[in-house]
Amino acid sequence: MDERVAKPLPPQTPDWLPFYEAAARGVLSLPRCQQCGSFRFPPRPVCPNCLGKDFAWQPVSGRGEIWSYVVMHQVYHPAFADEVPYAVVLVRLHEGPKMLSRLIDVAPRAVQIGAAVEATFLPAGNGLYLPFFRLAAGPAT
Ligand SMILES: [Zn+2]
Repeated sequence: MDERVAKPLPPQTPDWLPFYEAAARGVLSLPRCQQCGSFRFPPRPVCPNCLGKDFAWQPVSGRGEIWSYVVMHQVYHPAFADEVPYAVVLVRLHEGPKMLSRLIDVAPRAVQIGAAVEATFLPAGNGLYLPFFRLAAGPAT
């Protein structure tokens, strides 16, 4: 019997579908307010900057910097038992919004605030692709 436990997945409600469709193509896409031009994340019906309701999904760079992070040493969910320690990062995207994700391909002790990162997309189960981040060459800005 396979005793592996599936990892929890993020919301898959209709307002998230354009995000996942773009992620499956290796593109980070965010809702952009049609009144003030600001990007927002997570998807929500009203712009937090101007309260505008009109928006359009638009590809973004996928680049940003580590705004904050935590290294997980404790196993809080059995599906992650083989992965500790790992770094959970809050990335401030160049376009403004912040996004929680994982930093991959680097030892957790090497994580630094302000480090330049770029998104990469990995299968997360159930046909879903999610953005993870890697250290990027060059400056964060
Ligand atoms: Zn707005």
